[in-house]
Amino acid sequence: MKRDRSFRAAGSSGLLCSLGESRLNQFSIAIVLVSSVWLSIAAVTAQAAPCLIVTLTGTGPGPGAFNGLAGPGTLIRYGEDGNDCGAMKLQFDVGRGTTMRLSQLGVFPAQLNGIFFTHMHTDHTEGFADLVTLRWFFNGAGPKIDVICSADTVSPQGFTVSCRKFTTHIGDAFIQSGEIAQRHSEDPKNRTAGGPADLIHTITFEPKEEPQVVWSSGDVKVSAIRSTHIVGHVSYRVETPAGSVVIGGDAGNDVLAPPRASSTSAQVEKLATGADIIVHSTIHPIMAPDKGSEMFAYAFYRQSTATDLGAMAKRAGAKYLMLTHLIPAIGAERQGPWTIPGGPLTEADYRRAVEESGFTGNIIVGTDLATVHLPLQ
Ligand SMILES: [Zn+2]
Repeated sequence: MKRDRSFRAAGSSGLLCSLGESRLNQFSIAIVLVSSVWLSIAAVTAQAAPCLIVTLTGTGPGPGAFNGLAGPGTLIRYGEDGNDCGAMKLQFDVGRGTTMRLSQLGVFPAQLNGIFFTHMHTDHTEGFADLVTLRWFFNGAGPKIDVICSADTVSPQGFTVSCRKFTTHIGDAFIQSGEIAQRHSEDPKNRTAGGPADLIHTITFEPKEEPQVVWSSGDVKVSAIRSTHIVGHVSYRVETPAGSVVIGGDAGNDVLAPPRASSTSAQVEKLATGADIIVHSTIHPIMAPDKGSEMFAYAFYRQSTATDLGAMAKRAGAKYLMLTHLIPAIGAERQGPWTIPGGPLTEADYRRAVEESGFTGNIIVGTDLATVHLPLQ
């Protein structure tokens, strides 16, 4: 990159061809020197400036597959221009196809520094086996990767939701099939006998009503807060010198049906106060039970509507609202078995739904690989 800029700077002196030859040489040398000094200062300044990139690795509408969209997930990269803003790479949720989307960004499983789960629903987790198994194939002797999620939670109905069991048993089907043993036998020094779970360092925490730091490295800090969707659901905030991002996940209001002030989560709002970017799953208000979609009421009410998210982002003072996990997906004729009153939705329908809230920041109606870069480029 630097060589390319110097080449262009040197090339620009060639425009002075009408000047006398010796003057031309002196002037050209001066231009080149001045350019080089200026460019080096610019390069040093740029390298020292922290930056943050938020990319939606999947925006699919839930468990159903639609039009090749990957399952929900967000990649956060942090660094400085000198390392392409990629010194640290954190993945939040790992839906179907996450590894494929990461490969489009040139990010490989071994390069991730941490993986965070908002909750144990398959649309947010089913790409994890793919990612960690691939990591084990090519980096099978470690180091381990941190996987951060909430501690086991017992539901009111009596079952337990367990991220720790999920990560511990992620390779079991491949162990049972004999594949782990077969690949281990090919390269026993570089692939552990226990498969991908051997390379996972699971860090769990008790979700709380106030933000708590659950992971940090260098000048990056990740906090979490309890939020409502299913038991064990949490939302995260990533704090870096280049800016802050909230990953709401599928959070909705603690009050699971109207009457209530909003469909959004009060805890996510607390977490998001003063954040630069909010990434949040959303549902379009048109899917409400009283509008004819016939969607299960509980499934509608446990998400946040696009309009209420706009209002929350406005109250929180966010600069960007990135909608993801759009229910329904743009252009879909149906959401699973349910109809979409008025027909398929467009990007503008979601944008309008947010704008109704009065939010005047930047609205990103998410598609796979939609990206926000801080500072702005
Ligand atoms: Zn979901």
